[in-house]
Amino acid sequence: MAKHEHVRVAVIGSGFGGLGAAVRLRREGITDFVVLERADSVGGTWRDNSYPGCACDVPSHLYSFSFAPNPDWPRTFSGQRHIRAYLEHVTDTFGLRPHLRLSHEVLRTRWDGDALRWEIETSKGSFSADVVVSATGPLSDPKIPDVPGLDGFPGKVFHSARWDHDYDLTGKRVAMIGTGASAIQIVPAIQPTVGRLTLFQRTPPWVMRRMDRRITGAERWLHRTLPFTSTARRGLLWGIRELQVSAFTKQPAVLGLIENLAKANLAKSIKDPALRAKLTPSYRFGCKRILLSGEYYPALAQPNVDVVASGLREVRGSTVVAADGTETEVDAIIFGTGFHVTDMPIADRVVGAEGLTLAETWKDGMESLRGATAAGFPNWMTIIGPNTGLGNSSMILMIESQLNYLADYMRQLTVLGGRVALAARPSAVGAWNRKVQSRMERTVWKSGGCDSWYLDANGRNTTLWPGTTGEFRRETRQVDLAEYEIIRPKAAPVTAESTPRDTEAVA
Ligand code: NAP
Repeated sequence: MAKHEHVRVAVIGSGFGGLGAAVRLRREGITDFVVLERADSVGGTWRDNSYPGCACDVPSHLYSFSFAPNPDWPRTFSGQRHIRAYLEHVTDTFGLRPHLRLSHEVLRTRWDGDALRWEIETSKGSFSADVVVSATGPLSDPKIPDVPGLDGFPGKVFHSARWDHDYDLTGKRVAMIGTGASAIQIVPAIQPTVGRLTLFQRTPPWVMRRMDRRITGAERWLHRTLPFTSTARRGLLWGIRELQVSAFTKQPAVLGLIENLAKANLAKSIKDPALRAKLTPSYRFGCKRILLSGEYYPALAQPNVDVVASGLREVRGSTVVAADGTETEVDAIIFGTGFHVTDMPIADRVVGAEGLTLAETWKDGMESLRGATAAGFPNWMTIIGPNTGLGNSSMILMIESQLNYLADYMRQLTVLGGRVALAARPSAVGAWNRKVQSRMERTVWKSGGCDSWYLDANGRNTTLWPGTTGEFRRETRQVDLAEYEIIRPKAAPVTAESTPRDTEAVA
């Protein structure tokens, strides 16, 4: 008979969000929980993205948990290998292994309104949980564009987040599709190895140098010996980024001043005026994610690299054809084409109180209350939910704010006592989103003249937070019960007639 386990909380995903939730639950004294992970190890996006050159463009001391500082970061900007090792270390240090259910892919989860719990079907058995914390992350499901003829391509094809390390690129003719944060790290890493590299650039990114350097032994010794120096370093990195926020959210014109620095960076590396023109963006700095690399432009200037300033339109046999008609014969195609962010696949697998999936509920755009809960999905919380992303700072700060909210949510359930669920009121969700969207109008992401993965199919920015991380921290410090409906189980029928569900209004 298939195994069934009931837990207080089921966390989905074991990246920064899922592991952070697990640590926080334990700190709240909750040990009756599992972390359901579809892969065979922890790490989330930092496990899946192992492409050559993969690194973080947020400084190491800020891109880590405040409760798990690492005095031994080897570089100011960490590589994927070190971040992944850090997450393994967090898993061990905080005793999370017994909670992990690896190779358990969540196939479907459904709210049972009678039992007031989530029924969860995974690839390795079923679970039920009073509360689900969905920490699947927005950068977990690779997106490959629907390119005519791709199926008939005789060579090698893979996505940046599913790198095939067994495929030797030495001497190969490679098409790299896309010029996002992943591609600009891949290009300089593979350019010296490949025979010919053709970069398909639909939109040129703004690129600044990344001030990466080795962290000296003396610095590490200082951080180990006097931990407050590590905290101070983090505080400084955080403060600088907080000061930048209003340029993105209120005064995008200020960002125009930095465009000159970025253009100078381009001119320094690219001497050929025709190539420089191709690589010069025509939208406001910051509208798309700002990319940091000191190696990208120099790699593009190498004789074995061609930049096709056009998207990939089709594939004919071993020939890749750009939208401008350029044809190139290649041995391999690497897609650096991003992820399903505003259409995350997990949303199709979650069925809420009204019998609708999260994807159906979000058909006109993702919406949540304080980036966490959604109307119609009681006791369901998303880590890095709608409008919690950042354009310039560390997502770990946002995750930790959401963990505060999760901790208070769990406390509220305990105080209410018995079998109980909280359901975000549609009016509260609506009010929160109106506020977020009205602030979005002035941001560079909306007004900067670009298209980006921050925007959904309707042109709404449902991914980024239009404020400082400090503001989000204050907004998520506590659960405001007035924003929720308290749901208790139906009372046992005393007559043949059924009684309506007892829903308490606390507002
Ligand atoms: P991305 O930013 O979504 O970039 C996708 C790229 O693919 C864009 O340049 C897009 O062009 C291009 N594209 C899509 N379809 C195409 C087509 N048919 N032909 C040519 N180009 C096409 O994806 P990503 O680079 O994987 O990065 C996603 C996010 O991951 C980043 O924004 C960042 O948040 C995160 N990331 C972070 C780091 C880090 O250092 N912390 C590193 C890697 C990734 P358009 O611009 O024209 O749409």
